[in-house]
Amino acid sequence: MPLRLYNTLTRALEAFVPQQPGRVKMYICGLTVYDYGHIGNFRTFIGFDILQRFLAAQGLELDTVMNITDVDDKMIARAREAGRPLREYADVYAAAFREDLARLRILPPQRLVRATDFIPDMVAWIERLVAAGAAYERDGSVYFRLASFPAYGRLSGKDLAGLQPGARVDVDEYDKEQAQDFVLWKAWREGEPSWPSPWGPGRPGWHIECSVMAEKLLGPTLDLHAGGTDLVFPHHENEIAQVEPLTHAPFARCWMHMEFLLVNGEKMSKRLGNFFTVRDLMQRGFQPSAIRYLLASVPYRRQLNFTLEGLEQAAAAVLRLRTFHERLEAAQPAAGAGPLAAAAAHARQAMQDALADNLNVAEALAAVFELVRAGNTALDDATLRADDRAACLDALAAFDAIFCVLAPDAPPAHARLQPEEVEALLAQRRAARQARDFARADALRRQLDEAGILVEDIKGGGERWRWK
Ligand code: AMP
Ligand code: ZN
Repeated sequence: MPLRLYNTLTRALEAFVPQQPGRVKMYICGLTVYDYGHIGNFRTFIGFDILQRFLAAQGLELDTVMNITDVDDKMIARAREAGRPLREYADVYAAAFREDLARLRILPPQRLVRATDFIPDMVAWIERLVAAGAAYERDGSVYFRLASFPAYGRLSGKDLAGLQPGARVDVDEYDKEQAQDFVLWKAWREGEPSWPSPWGPGRPGWHIECSVMAEKLLGPTLDLHAGGTDLVFPHHENEIAQVEPLTHAPFARCWMHMEFLLVNGEKMSKRLGNFFTVRDLMQRGFQPSAIRYLLASVPYRRQLNFTLEGLEQAAAAVLRLRTFHERLEAAQPAAGAGPLAAAAAHARQAMQDALADNLNVAEALAAVFELVRAGNTALDDATLRADDRAACLDALAAFDAIFCVLAPDAPPAHARLQPEEVEALLAQRRAARQARDFARADALRRQLDEAGILVEDIKGGGERWRWK
């Protein structure tokens, strides 16, 4: 089944066909690095990681740009509170962002770029907008002239009947019902960092940053432009307005928006203070693979309500997958094929079809777990044959190329044992218990405990472990 994606711009499911065969140009709005990213942010990045891994598995070459917003109203305010220069302040959280991306096994974009590295390009672009009559200067600031761009509002479906010509807005984030001339360049104010421009010292507005970096690095028309659903208006609407008057081409062929991660029915956000970072959850003993699994498990156009119980369940699901994988790897079945080879091929196809259907991850996971159930039964009954084993391992590899949860998580910085060492001690403990050598089993448990490993036995056999 060819890939179909929901396009916010046309409000329809469409076949995804890149402009240049075999190559996808994609822009993802990245993190504003005024603090650690929270797992709401990472839901968005993991969702688009699933997409990119799926595209790569189809043999498509990715050319993805993600920005790091390191200058905007919030950045400036927070750096000032911290009493540190903007760039230095941003460096800390940009590094943490890269670390979190790696922990969550999010493919690094081909280019992860910082807004402040493109300021001359932004100034040049704004000059061209002014020359084209799409922008104008007032008191050292430059504004986009909304009245010059009749297509404004198409992406978000905003009714512009209330548009007041000349009404202006200076802040980066606004949630006004009324669209207004928005700021492209902000005149310098006391205490703010600034860069030179033909309109005097100042700094870019947030919206222009993405437009200019995307156009410069990927060309006038992107295959995909992605971000969280809160970016549709005004951010993405403004991005379109800033680019199309100069390129006379559609800025992006497909716009994708990720629904929110919620907490008790409200958007997880810094502003509401209802957020968890990856670090918070690791400190509570959760592994990044469980976080990744949870955030990847719900289709991207559906909201996902975060709970710690949900995360526990995600950890259990990862463990179930890993245990099945280990059992298969350890099995030494007789030659030949049982019924499972066909079931595995079917699961693989079902997963592929589900993902091709606008990334229906829930159905893809259902197909995998059906196979896990059947596979575990065949292993228990010793009816598994060599061809079944190979087909199941193939299906799991195809699954993991997208979901990426099978490999053990990296140990935390304070870990004194590597995951393989923990596994080896646990295997010895299992053997000791089987031999009814409980003194040795207890000693091994103590050894793990002293190394900071918490072991929890699972009813019916096996165990779960994590770093304390
Ligand atoms: P920001 O750093 O605020 O610019 O956000 C970075 C990305 O995370 C953007 O694409 C946002 O739309 C997205 N985002 C923010 N909060 C959430 C949330 N609760 N759920 C999903 N995505 C979010
Ligand atoms: Zn953006």
